[in-house]
Amino acid sequence: MSRQINGDILANERINESDYRLVLSLPEIIDEVKPGQFLHVKCGPGVDPLLRRPLSIHQCNRDKGEIVLLYRVFGRGTELLATREVGEELDIMGPLGNGFDLTELKEKILVVGGGIGSAPLMALIERLVKLNKEVTVLIGAQNKEQLLCQDELTDLPVDFKTATNDGSAGYEGYVTGLLEQELEANEYEQIFACGPTPMLKAMQPLVSKKNIEMQLSLEERMGCGTGACLSCVCKVKVENEEGFEYRKACTDGPVFKASEVIFDE
Ligand SMILES: Cc1cc2nc3c(=O)[nH]c(=O)nc-3n(C[C@H](O)[C@H](O)[C@H](O)COP(=O)(O)OP(=O)(O)OC[C@H]3O[C@@H](n4cnc5c(N)ncnc54)[C@H](O)[C@@H]3O)c2cc1C
Repeated sequence: MSRQINGDILANERINESDYRLVLSLPEIIDEVKPGQFLHVKCGPGVDPLLRRPLSIHQCNRDKGEIVLLYRVFGRGTELLATREVGEELDIMGPLGNGFDLTELKEKILVVGGGIGSAPLMALIERLVKLNKEVTVLIGAQNKEQLLCQDELTDLPVDFKTATNDGSAGYEGYVTGLLEQELEANEYEQIFACGPTPMLKAMQPLVSKKNIEMQLSLEERMGCGTGACLSCVCKVKVENEEGFEYRKACTDGPVFKASEVIFDE
């Protein structure tokens, strides 16, 4: 069940040119949180901007009752969020969304993140490691400075590879190029991914060719976050006359089976 509550800001620190790490004390909801869910955050102290902004749960420390978010400053909302200080309270709704479906987990799993889309994957990876799965992680970014989760991943028993567009670390090029190499070299049974829409769209044919089950976390623009406003709808395949129907990323997603998602041309 999602709720509207205030969480104390324990940290809100810049980690590179564009990204921040925000730690919130939220013991009231900690036991409900699943990997892949998000919080709907009221970024400013007043009514500007009016709408909340969806941010994924990056990490969850159940013992301390703390939730970590990673966010990139894009516009008005995230700019204001970056000015919020330790000791202030942040108004959030959550946890929202369905999260990753972990009911039929396979043994050999590939996790792929692009840009700030790597944010929700950390909680998932930590859960997969706890369940003793064999995990390989591919993280892509514009450059070395923007590669996220490096320290956390180095401390975990996962195989971790990086791609940067400018070649400053790891594979030179998009993470989808690294994925193509990886799928040729190794067999995977299941893939989880989050990143910009063009990345997820490019992954779909690569993965379906190999017949691997994949779940995608979509980052649609979102309004209410509770299924009322329909601003975050996306197309999924169904057997009706049109061949598709609209689903809400906020309440039906943000995680969908890759085989169902229809990306617009
Ligand atoms: C389920 C979900 C989880 C998300 N998790 C994270 C996260 O963990 N960390 C993070 O940094 N961001 C995340 N996002 C994206 C984040 O919500 C947007 O970047 C944010 O709302 C932008 O708000 P703003 O006021 O700063 O920018 P705005 O002024 O609203 O927009 C500025 C720019 O950001 C782009 N933008 C706005 N919303 C989105 C969006 N949903 N996806 C992609 N681009 C967008 C716009 O096209 C515009 O160019 C998530 C989005 C969704 C739907």
